[in-house]
Amino acid sequence: AKAEGKATYRMFEPALAERMRARSQLDLDMRRALETDEFEVHYQPLVDSQTGVVTSAEALVRWRHPERGLIAPADFIPLAEETGLITQLGAWVLQTACRQASAWSTTIRIAVNLSPVQFRDDRLPEMVAGILETTGLAPSRLELEITEGVMLDDEARTLATLTKLKAIGVDLAMDDFGTGYSSLSYLRRFPFSKIKIDRSFIRLLPDDPESAAIVRAIITMGACLGMTTTVEGVETAEQYAFVAAEQCGQVQGYHVSRPLDHADFLSFLDATKMA
Ligand code: C2E
Ligand code: CA
Ligand code: CA
Ligand code: CA
Repeated sequence: AKAEGKATYRMFEPALAERMRARSQLDLDMRRALETDEFEVHYQPLVDSQTGVVTSAEALVRWRHPERGLIAPADFIPLAEETGLITQLGAWVLQTACRQASAWSTTIRIAVNLSPVQFRDDRLPEMVAGILETTGLAPSRLELEITEGVMLDDEARTLATLTKLKAIGVDLAMDDFGTGYSSLSYLRRFPFSKIKIDRSFIRLLPDDPESAAIVRAIITMGACLGMTTTVEGVETAEQYAFVAAEQCGQVQGYHVSRPLDHADFLSFLDATKMA
C-alpha cells in the first residue's frame, strides 16, 4: 500500500507543480497586461422586449493577449478574484466603460459587472463616484450588476455599501438570478431595481415546461416587487417571442447581438433605433 501511495504521489506532483507555475505566470501576465493596456471592454446591447429599441449595453471585459489572442473572462477573472487584482481590473473596466459611454451619441445606459471581492473594499462607493465625476457620465446612466455571491458576506456591511451606491444615483441589478444561493428575501432587503434571470433557465425555452414556469414566475414576481426583469442568453427567435410575450423588461442574447468590440458596437448603434 505504501508503494502504491508513493507511485500515486509521483504521478500527481508534476501536474500540481505545473498548475501552480501556470497560475503564478498568469497572475504576473495579468499585472503586466494592466500596465500595457491589453484589456478591452466589449459591449452587448440590451433591447426593450416590447419595442425592440436598444436601452442599454453590458460591458464585458476581454484580454487581448499578444500570443494567446482574445481571452474570455472565465479564464482570468477567477484568478484575479483570488489574488485581489480584480479590484484594479474592475476599476479599469468601470473607468473605461464610463469614459467610452459618455462619448456615445446616445444616452442609453451602461451596465458594469462588479465582483463580490470589490465589495469587500470600503472605498468602492467613493471609487464609483470618483469615476462618474472624472468621466462626466450621468449616474442615472450607470447600472451595476452584482451576483448573489455578495450576499454571503457580512450582510450589514453589504447593505451599507449598496445603500451608498444607490445614493450616488446608480441602479443596482441582481445578476444571474436563480442560481447559487438566491434567497427571495434579498430582493426585499436590498435596494435592487432590476433582476437578470440566469441564462440556464432560458436554454431549454420554449419547449421545457419547468423552465417556462420558472421564467414566468420570476418575471411576475419582479413586476410585483416593482423591479424590471432582464432575460439573458436569448439565442433564438422562439426564445425571444416567448419572453416578450411574458412581458419581461429587456432582452439580451446572441439573437439580438453578440458582445461587440467598441468600434463594432458604435457601428451597431449607428444602424439601430435607440431609446
Ligand atoms: P455575465 O455577467 O452573466 O455576462 C453574460 C455572459 O453571457 C457574457 O459572457 C456574454 O458574452 C454571454 N452571453 C450573452 N448572450 C449570450 C447568449 O445568447 N448565449 C450564450 N451562450 N452566452 C451569452 P462573457 O463575456 O464570457 O462573460 C462571462 C462572465 O464573466 C460574466 O457573466 C461575468 O460574470 C464575468 N465578467 C465579464 N466581464 C466582467 C467584468 O468586467 N468584471 C467582473 N467582475 N466580471 C466580469
Ligand atoms: Ca452581468
Ligand atoms: Ca448574468
Ligand atoms: Ca453568468
